[in-house]
Amino acid sequence: MFNDYGVMKKIVAKFGGSNLKKREDILKLVKVIRAYDRPMVIVVSAFYGITNRLIKSLEAVQKDEAEIQSLTGFLLSMKEEVIQEHFPDSEIAERTMIEVEQRVSELKRYLTGIHYIGEVPEFVEDVILSYGERLSSLLLTSILQSNGIDAEEALPEDMPLITDGEFGNATVDYNRASAGVKRKLSEDKVYVVPGFYGVSREGKVTLLGRGGSDYSAAALARCLDAESLDVWKDVEGFMSADPKLVDNPVLIKSLTYTEAAELSYFGAGILHPRTVEPLKEIGIPVRILNIDTFNTDIDCGTMVHTSSTVVAGIIKSVTFSDDFCVLKLRGAGVGVKRGVLAKVSGSLDRAGINIKSVITSQIAINLLLSARDIKRAYRIIERMDLSAITEMEAIEQLSTIATVGEGLLEHPGVAGRIFSALASENINIRMIVSGASSVATYFIVAASKRDSAIKAIHQEFF
Ligand code: ASP
Ligand code: MG
Repeated sequence: MFNDYGVMKKIVAKFGGSNLKKREDILKLVKVIRAYDRPMVIVVSAFYGITNRLIKSLEAVQKDEAEIQSLTGFLLSMKEEVIQEHFPDSEIAERTMIEVEQRVSELKRYLTGIHYIGEVPEFVEDVILSYGERLSSLLLTSILQSNGIDAEEALPEDMPLITDGEFGNATVDYNRASAGVKRKLSEDKVYVVPGFYGVSREGKVTLLGRGGSDYSAAALARCLDAESLDVWKDVEGFMSADPKLVDNPVLIKSLTYTEAAELSYFGAGILHPRTVEPLKEIGIPVRILNIDTFNTDIDCGTMVHTSSTVVAGIIKSVTFSDDFCVLKLRGAGVGVKRGVLAKVSGSLDRAGINIKSVITSQIAINLLLSARDIKRAYRIIERMDLSAITEMEAIEQLSTIATVGEGLLEHPGVAGRIFSALASENINIRMIVSGASSVATYFIVAASKRDSAIKAIHQEFF
């Protein structure tokens, strides 16, 4: 495909931590890049588990100086192992090791800084956590080069990939970033970009949220007006349900952006929920590809795009998240008093707590919150001492189940089938939301009923 000027469009391909675990994974990745045989942009995550390790060290380093050595030592020996596995030629191995050492010593300077000041300013936290990705892109570039591929590393700060500047959870500003990204990635090469971060307008590193490399890749695809965003996984794509829970899950070949976003939001760990955001408006397709079954023609598992397919049973997938808790605020007046919700949400916002959803009635406000936030939220609201709220209850041990499919609202029989499937298993629905999204109905059940609820619904529709 070509753009308006007759230039071949680029493809952006994303490889995650699970594609970067072992030597075989990296060899597969190289084979895939060879098969593309075209100029493109590769976005990589940190090696498997590295971001979590960096987060742990961030805590420990503040008190314990020895942790600096233990982290950097660990990173160096891990990278050295990868280098030895991949570079039979000792000259390239040596050169790459020197580059890795330089990068690790940059990291070491930041760690030493936080040890001496005894706290982690947020702008330093974001820089430190970006090092997992920075090490991946460095190594992968070298590996591709040593395989005869014309590869070059391109860092977000050198484009710059401009964000709104929010530390820890930034949003990419495509309009501001686009020209620079296009310029930086203009040649007919294979560019390797570390995912997970962009930079503020002042040039500070800002992370794009946990799991954010998918979103980085989508933002770059948007800036480049790419032909497609190819997300490589070690699974085939979106399935009708979690294969660990049901017997015969089916692969979903086609999803709309909204369906994919809803499924991702409710726990289908295939894509980061924000991935479709930059792509939807201009219709860049996302292809989910399986690196394990790949041979030479690039055949996609799930395609996420504009055109919608309504399947016979309407429901395409049933998924769940265990990270929803309910904070119930009761009081006869909550439905008639002005401003209760505004005050509550304002306070939670100031405390950095995200409200996932709100379900209200005349006598209760139900806030759906993440498990890690619920206790803190309870205390904050309790302290506000609002006269409209007479009773509060935090309900944990819940699962939220989402059924997703385009056309769901227009087909009344669907909800009926969901309810009877659950009723036949004696599963009590604690709360239900339908209509808020045009493609998803979700409901809350006790965590202990999660698996049987998923099985019952899957059985009914597939
Ligand atoms: N390495 C980052 C994380 O673990 C980003 C990503 O994997 O997409 O959150
Ligand atoms: Mg990921």
